[in-house]
Amino acid sequence: MTLNIGVIGTGAIGREHIRRCSQVLQNARVVALNDINRANCEQILTDLALKAEIYDNAHDLINAPDVQAVLVTSWGPTHEEFVLAAIKAGKAVFCEKPLAVTAQGCMNIVEAEIASGKKRVQVGFMRPYDSGYRALKSVIDSGDIGEPLMLHCAHRNPEVGDAYTTDMAITDTLIHELDVLRWLLKDDYVSAQVIYPRKTRKASSHLKDPQIVLLETAKGVRIDVEIFVNCAYGYDIQCEVVGETGIASLPEPMSVQTRSAAKLSTGILTDWKKRFIDAYDVELQDFINNVLSDNMTGPSAWDGYAAAVAADACVAAQNNGEIVPITMPPRPAFYQ
Ligand code: NAD
Repeated sequence: MTLNIGVIGTGAIGREHIRRCSQVLQNARVVALNDINRANCEQILTDLALKAEIYDNAHDLINAPDVQAVLVTSWGPTHEEFVLAAIKAGKAVFCEKPLAVTAQGCMNIVEAEIASGKKRVQVGFMRPYDSGYRALKSVIDSGDIGEPLMLHCAHRNPEVGDAYTTDMAITDTLIHELDVLRWLLKDDYVSAQVIYPRKTRKASSHLKDPQIVLLETAKGVRIDVEIFVNCAYGYDIQCEVVGETGIASLPEPMSVQTRSAAKLSTGILTDWKKRFIDAYDVELQDFINNVLSDNMTGPSAWDGYAAAVAADACVAAQNNGEIVPITMPPRPAFYQ
């Protein structure tokens, strides 16, 4: 069986996902493309030697009879409209993060999906598909380090452009930790606080960098996440779990160790795209398999909503300097 996919938004990640679905993954083919910039679609057809129909209207693509599933990889503010349209059309939809730019927008999707009576949405949170995070979760779940008590995490980028603003440290950067740490701990957040250490001279005048986000979970686990997006030295993701009887750390990406010029060294990645490249393959293959077997198990619309609620609280905490409560309604039985 082959899943026919239509892609809305053929920019950076859209293009990568189209390449994956056409050249790397199994049981999928891209049959339809849409972008407000039609030239992007035409370029992809040429570059990837792909045969797919270009639609000038995203809703026509969603409703096309040969499109069985939709990939939404356009800009964040457009996601809610396209995901809701896919649900209405009865089609499975993989939506890149964010599911919607507001928690209310995510809730609109949750409600529409529940009303449709069937799970159709997967959110593009790829870290739960990363082999390192999966290995870390296995150790936690095995009980080998006892119950987790504290997490020390870091999300560091070598640099960001001038367009990167202080709130993007939450909505673009921390959002991945907000998703994966919930999944890792099987827990929900109850409060957030943001503190600002001394600012690096490498950040734009308008950007507060670094930042430390302090989260508390319902089980009482305390999490600190350092976000440092002009750290200069590399793209570095850290996660250390301190349990009752031991400590487990996220494995470092594989890197050859060298002894040279009186130094022992291993490389550190600098490009974020390479850090989770395998995880993107696994998450999309999972989406394809799940749609074909009619059993959606990936990050759900509820997970997209939970991340959005936590992100809103973190942005409020950035602005008021206080400990901001994170309040989630009970998880609907539909998402148990
Ligand atoms: P991009 O700007 O490179 O591409 C977005 C594309 O969407 C552009 O080609 C644009 O013309 C198109 N577009 C915008 N509005 C549209 C509309 N109404 N209809 C059709 N097409 C439209 O951006 P990107 O870096 O590819 O990011 C796209 C989304 O993917 C964002 O939400 C981003 O947060 C997410 N993303 C996720 C990850 C991840 O790690 N999971 C990584 C990168 C990007």
